[in-house]
Amino acid sequence: MGSDREEKIQMFKKEFNAVNTYNRPTYCDKCGGVMVFKGVGEYRCERCGYVDYDDYGKTRNYIEKHSGANAAQVSKATGVSQKAIRELLKEARLEISPDSTIFLRCEICGAAIRGGRYCSKCETAYHKNVEEMARRSRHQDDMFGYSTEKRKRDEGSKRFTRE
Ligand SMILES: [Zn+2]
Ligand SMILES: [Zn+2]
Repeated sequence: MGSDREEKIQMFKKEFNAVNTYNRPTYCDKCGGVMVFKGVGEYRCERCGYVDYDDYGKTRNYIEKHSGANAAQVSKATGVSQKAIRELLKEARLEISPDSTIFLRCEICGAAIRGGRYCSKCETAYHKNVEEMARRSRHQDDMFGYSTEKRKRDEGSKRFTRE
């Protein structure tokens, strides 16, 4: 039971750190009240109702209003670093709109992508590769099964012709 609790604490710490890197507003800029998480990067002061956003919320809001913006423009307008924006995009928590200037590249082939880590071609190729390997190892099992079966049959037929 003790390790279970320890695990939960570690998980919470990890999550907290992840949240923290998005510069979560902890206290209200206006009155110093505690900022309460409202979802999708939005926080509201429990005392005066002032609304603020973390890096994710700021980036998301900006991209929603300025769909053609590139990373540099988003970064300049929101104060969120380009690196943080890229991280958010990689985690697929954000997706660039179709008419946006591209600012993400497939980690395998370098093609322009709108979200995630790989382009659809590389993702498909990856899955095909896994499937092909699965097929090959299955095929080897079949071959092995077949050859032993064949050997038995050959021995049987030899025995039969001999008799
Ligand atoms: Zn406040
Ligand atoms: Zn690719």
